Amino acid sequence: ISDRDGWFWLNGEFIPWREAKTHLLTHTLHYGMGCFEGVRAYDGPNGAHLFRVEAHTRRLLDSAHSLDMGLETTAPVLIEAQCEALRRNGLTNAYLKPTVYFGAEGMGLRAQGLSTNVMIPAWYLDHYISADAAEQGLRVLTSSWSRHHVNISLCRAKTNGHYVNSMLALNTAVKAGFDETLMLDPEGYVAEGSAENIFLVRDGVLHTPEVTSCLQGITRDTVIVLARERLGMTVHERRITRDEVYTADEAFFTGTAAEILPIRELDGRQIGRGGERPVTREIQRLYRSLVRGERDNGLAAYRDWLHPV
Ligand code: PMP
Repeated sequence: ISDRDGWFWLNGEFIPWREAKTHLLTHTLHYGMGCFEGVRAYDGPNGAHLFRVEAHTRRLLDSAHSLDMGLETTAPVLIEAQCEALRRNGLTNAYLKPTVYFGAEGMGLRAQGLSTNVMIPAWYLDHYISADAAEQGLRVLTSSWSRHHVNISLCRAKTNGHYVNSMLALNTAVKAGFDETLMLDPEGYVAEGSAENIFLVRDGVLHTPEVTSCLQGITRDTVIVLARERLGMTVHERRITRDEVYTADEAFFTGTAAEILPIRELDGRQIGRGGERPVTREIQRLYRSLVRGERDNGLAAYRDWLHPV
């Protein structure tokens, strides 16, 4: 991924992709104190646009503030930089990973005078897992690793170091032959996937865990809005147990990269009646239309979520 043509946004300037290197003592590399976003751009009827870039940029600034990283930049600067990163690289359907990190001015947890840097890599993205995952659904394994706790880390911050926990859980599931993992919070209630929020459908009502251990996902919010406003559905944000997932009519993951991915089975239990996922399909259809910039079926109401590149 490093050996290719292209441009890399770093602290307000563009550098050639192959020259986007850092010193081995870069502080964030050693202790994981940094934060990032995953943002997506799509090709639409009027050219490329970023989806909900304002919300992602707000979350990045909030993460950096909560981590007390001393980031001195503004949302408009970062949004324009993300647009420019796409234009410079000739990208339309893409994933961007704006990242805030400490430089190599010092080592150790007490290091002073560290620089706070922002990089914005962008690359082509089509499917996060596979082309047919959205159709077939995922086989998921509940993790033996707990998700974060509000008094151990900042659950609302998208912190680099948090993803050690995600990877421990995901790697165990993948090595055992599953597609994804479901993580429970430290009390054993359903939290989220390794990089996705989770929803259940039961008797036509949507349920999703409240935002304690799980990330406050932007796709999660989009789905809640679409379900309430476009499908007239009731959505409950509450504590959910693992057996409620086993016995749900439907279950699906949401995320910027993942979009909407059905969960076919959890821990070997088939969810719902095999393959019939009317609510998930409807939400997938609406979400795909929305992010691709279609305006019919009332989706014009959300045009502010599309930021032209
Ligand atoms: N949870 C975790 C742990 C994630 O990494 C992500 C991806 N950012 C999500 C949930 C989904 O969040 P979003 O919809 O904002 O991408």
